[in-house]
Amino acid sequence: MLDSVLIANRGEIACRIIRTARRLGMRTIAVHSEADADALFVDMADEAHLIGPAPARDSYLVIDKIMDVARKSGAASIHPGYGFLSERAEFAEACAANGIAFVGPPASAIRAMGLKDAAKALVEKAGVPVVPGYHGDRQQADFLRQKAYEIGFPVLIKAVAGGGGKGMKRVDKLAEFEEALASAQREAASAFGDPRVLIEKYVLSPRHVEIQIFADTHGNVVHLFERDCSLQRRHQKVIEEAPAPGMTPEMREAMGRAATEAARAVGYVGAGTVEFIADGREGLRPDRFYFMEMNTRLQVEHPVTEAITGLDLVELQFRVASGEALPFVQADLAPDGHAVEARLYAEDPEKGFLPSTGRLWALQFAEGEGIRIDTGVEAGDEVTPFYDPMIAKVIAHAPTREEALDKLAAVLRDTIVAGPKTNVAFLRKLCEAEDFRAGRFDTGFIDRNIEALGAVPRGLDAAAVAAGALMLVQQEEERTALGRAPHSDLVAAGGWWEDDGFQLLGRRHTGLPLLVEGARLDVDLSFDRNGPSIEIPGHPVAPGEHGLMVVEGDGGVLVLREGRQTSVKLYDPFTVDLEHMDGDGLVKAPMHGKLVAVFVEAGQTVEKGQRLAVVEAMKMEHALVAPCDGVVAEIAAEAGAQVAEGARVVLIRAAE
Ligand code: ADP
Repeated sequence: MLDSVLIANRGEIACRIIRTARRLGMRTIAVHSEADADALFVDMADEAHLIGPAPARDSYLVIDKIMDVARKSGAASIHPGYGFLSERAEFAEACAANGIAFVGPPASAIRAMGLKDAAKALVEKAGVPVVPGYHGDRQQADFLRQKAYEIGFPVLIKAVAGGGGKGMKRVDKLAEFEEALASAQREAASAFGDPRVLIEKYVLSPRHVEIQIFADTHGNVVHLFERDCSLQRRHQKVIEEAPAPGMTPEMREAMGRAATEAARAVGYVGAGTVEFIADGREGLRPDRFYFMEMNTRLQVEHPVTEAITGLDLVELQFRVASGEALPFVQADLAPDGHAVEARLYAEDPEKGFLPSTGRLWALQFAEGEGIRIDTGVEAGDEVTPFYDPMIAKVIAHAPTREEALDKLAAVLRDTIVAGPKTNVAFLRKLCEAEDFRAGRFDTGFIDRNIEALGAVPRGLDAAAVAAGALMLVQQEEERTALGRAPHSDLVAAGGWWEDDGFQLLGRRHTGLPLLVEGARLDVDLSFDRNGPSIEIPGHPVAPGEHGLMVVEGDGGVLVLREGRQTSVKLYDPFTVDLEHMDGDGLVKAPMHGKLVAVFVEAGQTVEKGQRLAVVEAMKMEHALVAPCDGVVAEIAAEAGAQVAEGARVVLIRAAE
C-alpha cells in the first residue's frame, strides 16, 4: 500500500479522504489556501501546507504549487477529490512525471472523456447509445441555430468542457435560441475557459441515472450499480439515491454493460461514473437511456453506493492506485437496502437559492444507525464566498426506500444550522413529497413543485421575530440588572430598576425598534406582571410556539423554526447602514461576484421584471431585474467590476 497521500482538495471531501487514508496507515498531507488556514481538513491532516490566496485559481488550481509541496513532503500519491484538478489530464501527467501515484485514471482516459463532444463520439463507436444532437466543431450562432431547428425543440445547449450544470441552457423555441446561446457561451468561457457548446435534443421526462464503475490495472472492470440523481435544480444534484426507483434487472444489466463498455473504450482505471439520461415517460426502459458523459473521478454522491455495497470507494481507489487487483468480481456484488443523500447547502431557497455566506453560529447533526454525515465544517467556521457553499452531505441507509427517506427526513428535522441560510427545510420537504416517494418524478420535479417545497419568499415569520425580540429584551434586562448602566431605555420604559430587580408599573406599552433580516421593523412591547410580550403590527403571533430555537450570533439572535432562520437585532441607528436602506428601486448585488453585463443606461425607461444586469458568482449567472416600472436613475457599477454583496448596482426611480 502507498505510505502517504497529498490531498489536492478541501472541505468535506478532503476530510473524507483523510479518514480512510488514516485507517489504512497512510501519512496525510493537506494543501490549503489562506481562506482555509483554520479549516477542519487542515486540522485533521498530519501536515498542512499553504499554497496561496483564497481564489482557487491562485491556490487549489495551481498544479506547480501542489507538485512542489508533493515533492518536498515526499508524497507517494495524490488524491484529487472531485472538482478542482480532478479531471485535468495535465495534473495526472505531472504526477506521473514526478513518480507520484495519481489516485485516478490515466491522463489519456481523462482526456478522452474530458470534452463532451469527443466522449460522445467515442462511446457511440463502442456501441453505447447517445442523445441525438450536434457535437461538431462549428460554433457560429447562425449555424447552431439551424442545427437546433433541425434537431427540434426543446433542445439543450451544453458547454463542451462543461460540468456541474454550468453553461447549460434549455431552449424551448427558436426565438429564444440566440440569447440562451450567448449566455451559455459566456458561462462556459468563464467557468471552463472554453466557450464551445454542443446542442442536444432535450429528453422528455428525463431521469438521471448513473452507473458507478471500478477498474483496476489488471483488466478487471465492474460496476457497483446505479444511482438516481434526478432531483436537480439548475441541473445540479440535490438528492441522490441508490438503487434507482423502478430499476429492473434488465435495465440494470443493460446500463451496467454500457457503462463498463464505455470505461473499457478509454482504458479506464480506478473509480468512475458513467452518467446516463433515461426517458422516464413510461418508467425505466432498457431501450430508452442515453450516455451523457463520464466523470473520471470520485463523485460527490459516492456515499450512497458505499452504503448499499458496504465498500469504501476511497480505499478501493488507493488499492487500485498501488497496483492491487479488485478484490471481487461482478458476481460477488449485490445491493443491500436503500440509501439516500441530501446536499445541505448554505443558500436561501426563499431568494432563488442564492448562496449565503458567513459564520456558522451553530451546527449540529443527529447521530444514529444508518446515518452518515460528511462535512468539512464545524460550528464557528465561516462559509466563505470563495468555494462551493456545501455544508454537509446527509446520508441515510435503511432496508427499504420508504424507511431511508423517513430516516433522512428525521435527521434533517433535527439538524441545527444557524448563520447562513440553508436549504434544510427544502430538503426535508423533498423527502416527504408524495410524488417523489411514489416514484413519480423526473429532473423537472423540483422546478414544477418549487412553491409546494417552500422555495418562494414566505414573508415574516412573526413567531420567530417575537421569540427573538423577547430574548433580546431579556438579555437587556440581565445586562442592566447586573449593575451596568442601562444600555437603552426600552426596558426601563415599562417600570423602574431597584436593587432586587425590575419593578413593573402596571401594564406599559412601548415601541421596540428591531432589525429583522436587515430591515427595520417596529413592534409593540408591553410589560405586565408576567414579563414582556410582543405584538407585531399586522402579524398575529400564535402563543406557545414549539420547535423553536434561539441562537445568539451576528450581533443579535438567530431564531430557527421549521427549518427557517430569522435574524433579529435591536435597531441601533448608529450602526445601521442607511446607504443600503433607501427605497424599493435600489437594485443591489445579491452576492459577491463580478458584474459581467449591464443592459441598461441612465435615463432609460424600464419595466418591472426587466433584466438590468448580470452578476456572476460561483460560476453561475444571476440576473438583476427591475423591481418596479420606472426610469434608470443611476448605474453605480461598470460591467467587468467586482461587486460586494449588497453593493448598489442600479437605482430605478419608480414611475408615478
Ligand atoms: P454537467 O456535466 O454540467 O453536470 P450533464 O451533461 O451531466 O452536465 O447534465 C446534467 C443534467 O442536465 C442531467 O443530470 C440532466 O438532468 C440534464 N440533462 C442533460 N442532458 C439532457 C438532455 N439531453 N435532455 C434533458 N436533460 C438533460
